Amino acid sequence: MPEIPDLEAIRHFLAPRLIGNTLLTAEARIPWIVRTGASGLESLAGHQFAPFSRHGKFLLFATDDDRLLVVNAMLTGRFQWAEPADRKRPSTALILTFADGHELRYSDARRMGRWYLVSAADLGVVSQFAELGPDAMAVDEETFVARLKRHPGQIKSTLTNQKFIAGIGNAYADEILWAAGLHPHRRRATMNEEDLRRLYRATRETIEWALPILRAEVAAGLDQRNEEWRDHLRVHRKADQPCPRCGHPIRSQVRGGSETDYCLHCQPLAL
Ligand SMILES: [Zn+2]
Repeated sequence: MPEIPDLEAIRHFLAPRLIGNTLLTAEARIPWIVRTGASGLESLAGHQFAPFSRHGKFLLFATDDDRLLVVNAMLTGRFQWAEPADRKRPSTALILTFADGHELRYSDARRMGRWYLVSAADLGVVSQFAELGPDAMAVDEETFVARLKRHPGQIKSTLTNQKFIAGIGNAYADEILWAAGLHPHRRRATMNEEDLRRLYRATRETIEWALPILRAEVAAGLDQRNEEWRDHLRVHRKADQPCPRCGHPIRSQVRGGSETDYCLHCQPLAL
């Protein structure tokens, strides 16, 4: 699932290519992926995107007539910046064509992603958007700590709870908790003030660390080779490999289909 560093890299790649590039056509090959505004999709033709933003795991493409094309790519949504002759992924769900001859394609193998075309005032109709907490890249330390104190449970569950802060998912939660030296199942109620502040710093530092790595990955192209950018991670999906900090093997647990990886030596469950 794309998280903040993935989506920021996509945004960084697409922004200079989309802005000022007139849309020629917008076609939903799987119409129900566009949850709101599907009937207006064709009316995007002739318009351009203004600078676009991101909140949590949502990308918000602003148009020059004050509408927003909002995308929540969920688990398997992928973007492709392609030439018309490039092979389409079988799961291609949406295609935007542009005056410069490129196509922005969105594919989604599990078809869980959601698109919405709304006026800027209607963001409330976008499922889950209204409940999002502050973006993990923008939240300040005092807000982070104050909000965290309302969640006494296991810290990884809280960190990936989009109502607490938005934009962190399963992969980067593992990275952040490793950086902070906190066990993923550690209950927040057992953590002191310094632990909470260290977690804030680890969150910011982990995102900042990943951004240039992913921008470099995407610089060569946003194409169908791109699946998920996870090779650079230090503990997530690195089961049994040595911890980069201490050399002990990374432990792995799978619960409900999602993997949690950590170093028990660097991240003891109880202090
Ligand atoms: Zn370690």
